[in-house]
Amino acid sequence: VPAARLRAPRTVRGALWSWAVPERQPAPRLVAVSAGGARLVGLEPGAFWRDARAAAEAWSGGRRVGASHPWAHCYGGHQFGVWADQLGDGRAVSLGEAVGPGGARWEVQLKGAGPTPYSRFADGYAVRRSSIREFLAAEHLAALRVPSSRSLTLVFTGRTVRREADELGAVVARLAPSWVRFGSFELPAARRDLGLVRALADYVVRHHFADVIAAGPDRYAGLLRAVVRRTAAMVARWQAVGFCHGVMNTDNMSVLGLTIDYGPFAFLDAYDPGFICNHSDPGGRYAFGEQPRVALWNLLRLAGPLAALMDEGAGPPSAETVAAVQAILGEYGPAYRDEYAHVMRRKLGLFGAPRAGDVEAVVQPLLDLLAEARADYSHALRALCDAPHAVAAAAAGDGGAAAERLAERIAQRSLGLGCDPGPWQRRLAAYLLDVYGPRLREDAASGQPLSASAAAAVGERMRGENPRLVLRNWVAQDVIERAAAGDEAWVGKALEALTTHAFADQLPADLADAEKYAGPVPAWGEGLVCSCSS
Ligand code: AMP
Ligand code: MG
Ligand code: MG
Repeated sequence: VPAARLRAPRTVRGALWSWAVPERQPAPRLVAVSAGGARLVGLEPGAFWRDARAAAEAWSGGRRVGASHPWAHCYGGHQFGVWADQLGDGRAVSLGEAVGPGGARWEVQLKGAGPTPYSRFADGYAVRRSSIREFLAAEHLAALRVPSSRSLTLVFTGRTVRREADELGAVVARLAPSWVRFGSFELPAARRDLGLVRALADYVVRHHFADVIAAGPDRYAGLLRAVVRRTAAMVARWQAVGFCHGVMNTDNMSVLGLTIDYGPFAFLDAYDPGFICNHSDPGGRYAFGEQPRVALWNLLRLAGPLAALMDEGAGPPSAETVAAVQAILGEYGPAYRDEYAHVMRRKLGLFGAPRAGDVEAVVQPLLDLLAEARADYSHALRALCDAPHAVAAAAAGDGGAAAERLAERIAQRSLGLGCDPGPWQRRLAAYLLDVYGPRLREDAASGQPLSASAAAAVGERMRGENPRLVLRNWVAQDVIERAAAGDEAWVGKALEALTTHAFADQLPADLADAEKYAGPVPAWGEGLVCSCSS
């Protein structure tokens, strides 16, 4: 079949994928390889560079990788709350599954290698800007212990791609155990093709949840429960690191609870639950603070198709099925709250026994203070690694001076205190000594005064929980501009800084240029937002 016919846009019924043909790129060049991504699939990172020309061709679609027969996945989705019917991989093709050293399977996708049957009105390409963002973000989130798809390579294609302006084309090779989305179930369900919904559910259970879900009639309830739990854990970690996804449409929700489809995402600068990172979302449906609720809304869309499988046969769902689905969805809130509390406790240095109400009593008052001053979220938490020291110094009789210095440091990076910061700083210092201090003493010293050495040990562990380097929009923009100005090698170095060294106090000499990424947001980098189109 000619490639042009295989790429022809069309409606695909009765199947969840189509053959696809990635394009040969005009002048592909290898820009960056993720060492971590390469190791996942049993490849040695240096091998890509030994024949960089061949690697650039292979990982941008111009040269067959192994015995691959590429395909594109057919799925639907709710976009901004509205059913969009068939979407599918419009610019991603799967090459096949790679088996990693431990036996784990990774589906390898090229994003931006040309049109597929699901490209609709668009061109199937991706551009340098958005590809650098996705390449870095997936690896960075994984390094921050947030479940995510992974990146393997970044290739610039030499193709001119038309967006608002002409841009350079790029292809990211990316990895996930599966790219099945909530919308993968919604599309056949919307077409009343229950057989296809069942085939997909059975496939996902067999290949991805075999260890947790026994075969049998309850497996569809088991699948829903597993997706509910993984989604809750993923979103809890987004909230804890201050990550805003930006386009939580159901076609961008992985059934494995992985962060996928990096578009206009952003990390918080100022702590602000109302923060919107997507220029195409003026109503704030996907605002930072809405994410936990939106994920549940999305799970409800997945619950419909799976509920249909729980009742064999047509007609309205039985009372038992409705009750079962409600009970499973009811697990979302507690699962979210448990995971969020778990991560936030560690970020605050509370490594001992959890206590009910920690979030309300210890975390929320801090967040309220940060929100009030629009304090920088990641900088504030990193600075708080010195809070145990301040608590110990107060016990040793410094009269709260260390706590006040810490509060001052956090205030200095706040965006919203135009007026006298003094009163706010005093309230933050009081929080540290009167709210946080007692809880920390209970956790780390059985309620006794905290010694300087115990405080140092807790502070050190906290530095492993609160990253110093975060891929904020201005950081991504700096990498993009540097690459556009010719320093493409910086992408790989920035990747190393944002993964291997994200939590480190110091950077190795060859990454010294990344030191500024730990500093204050430059004036030009405040309030940068991206749109959906890229
Ligand atoms: P997104 O909002 O990025 O999740 O994309 C929504 C849908 O549009 C998906 O089906 C994508 O594959 C498709 N899409 C986005 N950009 C392009 C593009 N440049 N070419 C083809 N399809 C695209
Ligand atoms: Mg998408
Ligand atoms: Mg996308």
